[in-house]
Amino acid sequence: MSWSAEEERNQLREQDCLFCKIVHGEMPSTELYSDEQCMAFNDINPVANVHVLIVPRDHVTHLTAATEQHEQLMGHMLRVGARVAKQIGISDNGYRLAINQGVDAGQIVDHLHIHVLGGGQLDNLGTPRGSM
Ligand code: 5GP
Ligand code: ZN
Repeated sequence: MSWSAEEERNQLREQDCLFCKIVHGEMPSTELYSDEQCMAFNDINPVANVHVLIVPRDHVTHLTAATEQHEQLMGHMLRVGARVAKQIGISDNGYRLAINQGVDAGQIVDHLHIHVLGGGQLDNLGTPRGSM
């Protein structure tokens, strides 16, 4: 029996994953961009004036779980970040792309994503908590 493309794609999702549910249209989001590899939507709890998430359609848990086969996807997601920044008008003044990897970085959703932050001056990057 041959698998349909849809069945094959479903192998790459995780049943209880929040971002899998969003990319499969089972949870609402404010979509800004979408293609066959990834999707961009507004963060539900923004920490900057503009806070967008770039999320792969396939379930990849962490940056550390990404392999050689994800290199094209990750490069694509960076370019989508730049494209969305331009689309929403924050490109000229500048913005930041960030990936939280693991506990110390505050990763709470175990589905790889790139944060796009901008729309105003951003805080310093990477200051350890309690050091200031
Ligand atoms: P992390 O800390 O894992 O790098 O970032 C996860 C992000 O997902 C957080 O900024 C959080 O606000 C966002 N988030 C959590 N739940 C939802 C949701 O249901 N919808 C959207 N759009 N963003 C979410
Ligand atoms: Zn997922």
